[in-house]
Amino acid sequence: AKTLRIGVIGGDGVGPVVLQAAQRVLEAVPGIPKPSFVPLQAGFEHFQKTGTALPRETVDALKSECTAAMFGAVSSPSHKVAGYSSPIVALRKEMDLYANVRPVKSVEGHDPRVVDMTIVRENTECLYVKQETIEDTATGRVARATRQISERASTRIGRMAFEIALAAAEVKKQRGGSYGWTGAPTVTIVHKSNVLSVTDGLFRESVRAVAKEYPTVEVNEQIVDSLVYRLFREPEKLSTLVCPNLYGDIVSDGAAALVGSLGLVPSVNVGDSFIMGEPVHGSAPDIADRVPSIANPLASIRSAALMLEFMGYVEPAAKIYDAVDESIRQGKVTPDLGGKLSTEEVTEVVRKQL
Ligand code: NAD
Ligand code: MN
Repeated sequence: AKTLRIGVIGGDGVGPVVLQAAQRVLEAVPGIPKPSFVPLQAGFEHFQKTGTALPRETVDALKSECTAAMFGAVSSPSHKVAGYSSPIVALRKEMDLYANVRPVKSVEGHDPRVVDMTIVRENTECLYVKQETIEDTATGRVARATRQISERASTRIGRMAFEIALAAAEVKKQRGGSYGWTGAPTVTIVHKSNVLSVTDGLFRESVRAVAKEYPTVEVNEQIVDSLVYRLFREPEKLSTLVCPNLYGDIVSDGAAALVGSLGLVPSVNVGDSFIMGEPVHGSAPDIADRVPSIANPLASIRSAALMLEFMGYVEPAAKIYDAVDESIRQGKVTPDLGGKLSTEEVTEVVRKQL
């Protein structure tokens, strides 16, 4: 039988505690092989202890021992720290996890506003190639950053977006499309090629070229700033968005506000040969020291479900989504959603629903 060996990279702040919640749910969900977990190190705390944020052993273990992985969150200081570089950005590159898929969905029968969109974020390039320079000039310092957009990366993220739009339409057909967006599958290309005609121009052109392989998917496009406007005005009209790295990062945190909390929004990092679930939120240092923990585990639990879904365990994933939705409908939630429960109590509620 197949085995599930899941690398678990808790990281900093609330990362470890929300991943523990995800593990407990993975242990309880029926329909998957019994999972085993491989605890792995990364993060700012690890950097402070050892001088390295992403140890070689972590990458090696993921590559040699693990079927898939879960990542919690890491704290990256806003100022430059000599020798430190965000391990999640490095991991995505190292494992070639070129897509970050972020579904943002409201809960039927709970949220007044219907939101059902998936942000497909390019994960390896754009400004996140992190080639920054600074120089002294006669008028003061000037800093520059390289923004890389390649045809290869834009094409493969485009393909991923079309596949997801098709899959989402299929799931809606099967599970009933009583709410949310029910029309034909649509992909919206998010860009700023009116100003950045070369870089964003190449992104837009590459995704449009892939569109030809998907005649049943409607393609449209929107400039990123007006997309943000639309996100607030009529989110119910958005479905699958495909974005260069930076726009995808910003748009998805913004979209999280539409469904109530960053603590609800999951993601999965996807490559051709590896999958890593990861809540969209960060290490939440403002609540990380609370005892008992009040970090919302639902984003992490939904990320575990997404991971399963992308591994082909569609039904077990659906069970987890339903259990999470039910705990929200019952108001059995953490304080970020107006509830009174702890991380552990919410996790128990979800486990009981399975
Ligand atoms: P954040 O996502 O950590 O927190 C933003 C706000 O949302 C905070 O008020 C926090 O309490 C709340 N929040 C986040 N997750 C929550 C949860 N599960 N339950 C309840 N409330 C939650 O973003 P930030 O404060 O801008 O960043 C904090 C640190 O996290 C920074 O060091 C940043 O670099 C890092 N970060 C890491 C990642 C990642 O690891 N992928 C992503 C974003 C930010
Ligand atoms: Mn982010």
